[in-house]
Amino acid sequence: MTKHLGLIAAIALLTQALSAHADTLIHAGTVIDTDKGNVSKEQTIRIKDGKVLSVTAGYTNAETDEDTVVNLQGYTVLPGLMDMHTHLSDQMNPAAYAEGFRLNPADYAYRSVGYAHKTLMAGFTTVRDLGDTDQVTIALRNAIAQGIITGPRIYTAGKSIATTGGHADPTNGTNQALMGHPGPEDGVINGEAQAREAVRQRYKEGSDLIKITATGGVLSVAKNGQNPQFFEDEVDAIVKTAKDYGMTVAVHAHGAEGMKRAIRAGVDSIEHGTYMDKETIKLFKKYGTWYVPTISAGKFVEAKAAIDGYFPAVVVPKAAAIGPKIQGTFAEAYKAGVKIAFGTDAGVFPHGDNAKEFVYMVEAGMPPMKAIQSATKSSAELLHISDQAGSIAKGKWADIIAVKGDPLADISLLQNIDFVMKGGVIYKQP
Ligand SMILES: [Zn+2]
Repeated sequence: MTKHLGLIAAIALLTQALSAHADTLIHAGTVIDTDKGNVSKEQTIRIKDGKVLSVTAGYTNAETDEDTVVNLQGYTVLPGLMDMHTHLSDQMNPAAYAEGFRLNPADYAYRSVGYAHKTLMAGFTTVRDLGDTDQVTIALRNAIAQGIITGPRIYTAGKSIATTGGHADPTNGTNQALMGHPGPEDGVINGEAQAREAVRQRYKEGSDLIKITATGGVLSVAKNGQNPQFFEDEVDAIVKTAKDYGMTVAVHAHGAEGMKRAIRAGVDSIEHGTYMDKETIKLFKKYGTWYVPTISAGKFVEAKAAIDGYFPAVVVPKAAAIGPKIQGTFAEAYKAGVKIAFGTDAGVFPHGDNAKEFVYMVEAGMPPMKAIQSATKSSAELLHISDQAGSIAKGKWADIIAVKGDPLADISLLQNIDFVMKGGVIYKQP
C-alpha cells in the first residue's frame, strides 16, 4: 500500500515536472502589491518555470490546452508570507525540558517534517530559522529544497552561538556530570578566537547565517533574562567573521546593553528587543538595523507562566516579566520609525500559528498593509533576496498565497489561508 502511494506521488510529481513548461494563469480577484503598498482588482498572474512571468489587468484566457487556469476571482492574492524567526526543529510543550534528556536527533528531525508542512500550509513560503540542535534544520532545508518533503524555503542559522552559561549554552540547567565543557563546535564561545571558530564551524556545517544570544533569555534554565552576555570584542569578531563568509548576523536580545553592543558591531537584526530604550532606538535608526519583534512568543510565555509546573521555576518570573512587554516595545519602535521585519519565534508556540503575529502588530498600531509588507517586502530585504521574493512581480519566485475576504480590513483573515503556491507548485487550494 505504502509502495503504491509512493508510486502515485512519484507520478504526480512527474506530471507536474512534464507540464512545468506550460504556463499557470491565476485569475486573482484582488492582488496586494507589496512593493507599492496598494491593491489592484481583477488581475492575471502568469507563471512559468516557477517564476512570475507577468501580472496584467483583466482575466486572460489560456492560450494552449497545457496551460492551467487557477480561479481565485473570489480571493485576495498576495505574495507568500515570510517569518524571520522560527525554530522548526522544536516545539514548546510541558514535557519539552525533560524531552531534551530522552529524545534523539532523529526524533526532533521527524517532528520538524510536520512543523515545516504546517508552516507552509499556513501561507509561510519562506522562513529564517534561528537556532536548532544537531543541524536538524540544515537537513530539513535541504530535503525541502530537493522536493523530498514539503515546507517553506529555509534560511537557517543552525546552532545558535552563546557564551558559557548564556542563553543557548546547550548544557544550562543540567547536572555536573552532563554539563561538560561545550566549546565553539557546540556553539559556546569565550573570547575572539572562539567567536571566529564558532562562525567558521557554522559555515562548515552549512548554516546560511549566524545567530547569537547577546543577552539572557526567557526559556533557558538560568536566572537572568536580560544581562549582556557577549563582550564588544566577541560580538565584533562574530560580525567580522560572518561578513567574510557572506553571512548575516541575527541577535537574540532582551536587555538594552546587549542590544547596543550588537548594533554598534554591525549586526543585521535584533530579535525580541524587549527592553530597548530611547538610546537603543536611536542606534537602530543610525545603523539601519532590523527589528524582529516576536510578540507571539511573548504572549505565549506570559500565558504559560501562569500554569503551575509548565516551566521550570527559574523560568517563570522571566516569562511573566518579559512576555507582556514585547507588544509595547514593538509599538514604540514602530512609532519611532525603526525598520521592522516580521518574526514570531514559532516553536516557542505551535508551528502554523505564525499569522497571529499580524493581529498583535495591528493591535499595537501598525496599519495592516505595513504589517503585510513586514512579512513580504521587508523580510526579503533582510534576507537579501528582494530580487527573488517579497512581491508578486515579473522574474520573482511564484510564491503566492490567497485568502477569502479582505485582510486589509480584517487582518485576522490571514490565519486562514486557502491557497498556497511555492515556486510555481500548488500545495493547497480551495
Ligand atoms: Zn527564538
